[in-house]
Amino acid sequence: MRRPTPAPPTWEDVNASDTRRIVRGPTQQASVLVISGLDPSGGAGFLADAHVVWQHGFHVAGTVTALTEQDSVMCSWMHPTDPSMVSNQIARLIDDFEIRGVKIGMVANRDMAMAIARSIKRLAESRVPIVLDPVLRATRGIPLLEGNAMQALSPLLSMATLVTPNLDEMATLTADHLAEDADSMRQQARRLRQFGPRAVLAKGGHLEGEIVDVLVDEEGDTAIRGQRIEGVTPHGTGCALSSEIACRLAFGAPLREAVIGACNRVRLRIAEARAVGRGRPFLGL
Ligand code: PLP
Repeated sequence: MRRPTPAPPTWEDVNASDTRRIVRGPTQQASVLVISGLDPSGGAGFLADAHVVWQHGFHVAGTVTALTEQDSVMCSWMHPTDPSMVSNQIARLIDDFEIRGVKIGMVANRDMAMAIARSIKRLAESRVPIVLDPVLRATRGIPLLEGNAMQALSPLLSMATLVTPNLDEMATLTADHLAEDADSMRQQARRLRQFGPRAVLAKGGHLEGEIVDVLVDEEGDTAIRGQRIEGVTPHGTGCALSSEIACRLAFGAPLREAVIGACNRVRLRIAEARAVGRGRPFLGL
């Protein structure tokens, strides 16, 4: 028996654009510069920073200081990129764009830190806010900064508006024991501030009980308290917090207000954490 011949497929032309003539000049958009490592999982590093910057309505421009091999379970490998490429990339962006804020995350090694410091000098001199998250190691996995941490980060510490160490990072940078309460966090933050940053935000997320972060700047010391959200801390929380602060400062918010607002926002995102992979959760959107 012969099968009936199928009908030929239809072919239609549609016009997807509006028939009116569209005349629109470009609108000006300011940028926040992100300098951090690439975590392919998107939970931390450049992709997570970019997410925050877009949410604030800035254009995100930036460069990648290192490639990493990681997923939601762990980080097992990192490879710094070329410092001269990074400084050339930054120099071109600074010449071209209106940069209102800078977030620096993983810098991988001292050569990279020096290259970044040289290329953002002009921004620091014109008082563009610079937030440095002194990333030393992955919560689950390998070190993300080579060599002596203080030696590596010192070129950037001296030009940062704010540095945001967690308890481990602060203990390493001040060559001290792990702070156990708000008072010892405050002492260590003050010592770290002597290396040049305008302010230090010591993050106490790993303390027992109530969460307290301590902000130390020229106006005095502030304990920022918050309720602990039970459960595993999502991957990339430090990256998101420092990017949030950089964006708020880029809008012109005073430091204290920017930090408190950012802490609140990140706590909300922790409360809405999502399981994307098999390992640690990622922050809510
Ligand atoms: N990978 C990159 C590129 C990072 O910048 C960071 C932290 O800043 C991490 C991994 C580690 O994130 P976490 O310690 O939250 O897992």
